[in-house]
Amino acid sequence: MTAQTAEQRELTAVIGLEVHVQLETATKIFCGCSTDAGDEEEPNTRTCPVCLGLPGALPVLNEGAVEAAVKIGKALGSAIPEETRFHRKNYYYPDLPKNFQITQYDAPICDGGELEFSVDGERRAVGIQRAHLEEDPGSLTHAGGSIDTADYTLIDYNRAGTPLMEIVTAPDFRSASEARAFLAKLTEVLEYLGVFDVTRNGSLRVDANLSIVDAADVDEDGHIDEATLESANRTEVKNISSHKGAEKALAYEETRQKNAIQRGREVEQETRHWDESRGITVSMRSKEAEKDYRYFTEADLPPLRVSGWKDEIEIPELPDARRERFGEEYGLDAESAAKLTSTKQVADFYERIAGSFDPETAATWVADNLLGELNYRDMEITDIEGRLDEFARLVELVDTDEITVKNAEEIVLRRMLDDDLGPDEIVETEDLGKTDSDAVATAVEEAIEENPGAVDDYHAGEGGALNFLVGQVMAKTQGSADPGTVNELLREQLDE
Ligand SMILES: [Zn+2]
Repeated sequence: MTAQTAEQRELTAVIGLEVHVQLETATKIFCGCSTDAGDEEEPNTRTCPVCLGLPGALPVLNEGAVEAAVKIGKALGSAIPEETRFHRKNYYYPDLPKNFQITQYDAPICDGGELEFSVDGERRAVGIQRAHLEEDPGSLTHAGGSIDTADYTLIDYNRAGTPLMEIVTAPDFRSASEARAFLAKLTEVLEYLGVFDVTRNGSLRVDANLSIVDAADVDEDGHIDEATLESANRTEVKNISSHKGAEKALAYEETRQKNAIQRGREVEQETRHWDESRGITVSMRSKEAEKDYRYFTEADLPPLRVSGWKDEIEIPELPDARRERFGEEYGLDAESAAKLTSTKQVADFYERIAGSFDPETAATWVADNLLGELNYRDMEITDIEGRLDEFARLVELVDTDEITVKNAEEIVLRRMLDDDLGPDEIVETEDLGKTDSDAVATAVEEAIEENPGAVDDYHAGEGGALNFLVGQVMAKTQGSADPGTVNELLREQLDE
């Protein structure tokens, strides 16, 4: 170290992510076994000679997994090479009975790219180095908890062979919160593409590497030269399974490494395990060098050529583009547009009713009322997927003035969600149909006739008198009249 002491050094974290996502295909990547883990399924029931790695069983590539991979590449702006290959990554561990994992080594299906996202109100773009297809191993359960103390280990190959996409970013993140914001955006994009289900257990797994460099080594554009990065020892943190977990694990690791450096100690280059329950990272084992995996070409699978086909694979409008269009086309502010494009299902539903009714009314109903009530019940729009016609009908009832906004929000919408009833049924049983204008006019006349004292008070300028009369009319109409209209009608009559 030079003249500066350790305490004076200003330090910066350098973070890169390897994100493993399960692709939503009906069958596994190299065999016909289902990927659908039913509720409480028995272990080792979705298996066959291929995913059990029996001798002589040959893999056949799933077209659906390739299609999903191409969609991801297009969304991330990756180059999709004319020809790619599969490789064997050799390692001995019981979760893979073949003793190798089929993956893509030096010929990934997606090469390069970037993803833009917002963090703390600022736009950031992070480079994607590559994204490749591979198979998921089986899952191990160590009886009695940890691998060190277990008497035995149970192996379930139901998961083995589930198609995975590993997305590797450039070391472009400078903070844990950036990594979290990126993962949220990536998830959103993958869900828009229809290739990923974030609610599926274990569908997202993240390995993160983090090292600490001198802040002075980062140039104005946020770049760090290769040599500086190479010379900094980094740790790889495994076992992260959520956006929030990634942020916590990286914040912990950043503090741990900075503390070591500031005390003049060297950070050890190692693999660490994120212990979610304790909120710490712990040392696992020294990291295998790449050469230990003895990668070589998977001879049982021919080279994969997607050059002609890839142009036919279409991707939908992605969240950023849709957000912008919602602002322009429907005149929505940024906050509403963001809420309404948070998932593809929400955006699709909004567009459906924005086409039939006033776009702003539709926005309030979807972004504030519906999403608010769903959120309160810990539900998602996918939970009411089969009932969207009913919710559109509710907006229609409000838009055509058949029920009051208040009743629609406070009674109809809530009962629809709580009691699984349709809007018309609720309006009828609760007698919420808006009183027609004649009935309101009659109620106004009656209220004036029956309350001469209040009328005198009104003329004497007493503020509360009008409210009292409005209340009388509302009572006569069982709350179904619009208070604004009642107010207006009363003034008209009283001021004559
Ligand atoms: Zn199988």
